[in-house]
Amino acid sequence: MAKHARFSPGSLAYREVCPSFSSRPGSNAQADESTKLRECVENGSTQGLPNAQAACVIFCLQHRDAILATMQSPQVFHGIKLEITGGLTHGTADFLAVDGDRAALVNWKMDRSRVTAPEDNAQVAAYTLGVFEHFPQVNTVEASICQPRQRYIQKHTFTREGDFANLDLRIRTIIARASMRGGKRPCIPFEGCRYCRKQATCPGLINKVLPLARKCAGISIPDVVQNSDTPTPGLMSRMLDVAAIVQPWCDAVRNTATQMTLSGHDIPGYHLGYATNSGVVAQPAAIFDALPHSETSAPDDESWTGGDLPGITPEDFITACTAVDIGKLEDFFVAKAKHGFKGSMKTALSCWLTERNLVRPGERKGTICKNY
Ligand code: SF4
Repeated sequence: MAKHARFSPGSLAYREVCPSFSSRPGSNAQADESTKLRECVENGSTQGLPNAQAACVIFCLQHRDAILATMQSPQVFHGIKLEITGGLTHGTADFLAVDGDRAALVNWKMDRSRVTAPEDNAQVAAYTLGVFEHFPQVNTVEASICQPRQRYIQKHTFTREGDFANLDLRIRTIIARASMRGGKRPCIPFEGCRYCRKQATCPGLINKVLPLARKCAGISIPDVVQNSDTPTPGLMSRMLDVAAIVQPWCDAVRNTATQMTLSGHDIPGYHLGYATNSGVVAQPAAIFDALPHSETSAPDDESWTGGDLPGITPEDFITACTAVDIGKLEDFFVAKAKHGFKGSMKTALSCWLTERNLVRPGERKGTICKNY
């Protein structure tokens, strides 16, 4: 089984709407926090967590214990790998307890907004199918989504007799549509475009995003929003939905265009210009003095899991920051962080430098500009 599935269960809901969807790689502080909390639920520990995070873990553990209390002699799995649709895809379910012909499947969701109910949720459908396939004796799967931040639990019971065929058909259809040759595969813009790696180049999004965004949000967007036009909070909320799609797309287009130009491509009507970048480090010696020091480079297997920043040697600092590049300094520290903590490490470094006024505008960096 490959480590990462091409059509991972977590991406199926997006692919169900747009078969061309492709997950954007990378991590962020929110994803890191979710990973960390899941690990704490798995270990049954709240040690070292701030109160709010500990409360999330306890809420999940209470849900788990309530399930187990209804079972006779359950087999319990945390993070069980499941093949789905005969191996067309696979994934790791958060929690599973199997008791005779009955199973309880739980998805911990640390999201701050409510997710799709289990009976409609494509990820839950995929894992439920995987449970039916992996455990032939199981006839019912009680699937739940536990959202501790909302103190909210949604449940649905699937049966082998009534649901297996539909679950199988649904997952196979999503994968079949997503596997079509590029030219035939439709691009259907929707709010999930913000998580798609094709955002900058997707013809469907380029041609349709504004009309579709207006339609999805159900509003007529004014050409200019002025303070005197004071929109209602409800209108503002729907306009923010539109902005959430359009703004990342604009950023992604500019970044891709800059990279293309830097790689030698001419973009008609545009050239590579310069603009001030506000995230450039201007005082390398002061930064080195401010960082914790170390006599020797930490071994690669000593991974950071939070707390104080690890020490840095003068040699490592110079290697990381020859031109005192904030990106390279980040790379150095991020490499020290354990998987699941990399985004948090970036944030910790940023806070460390900002609090000490060690970053200031200064260096000029290439950016794409329109020709006049
Ligand atoms: S950016 Fe394009 S390919 Fe990606 S989800 Fe949106 S419409 Fe689909």
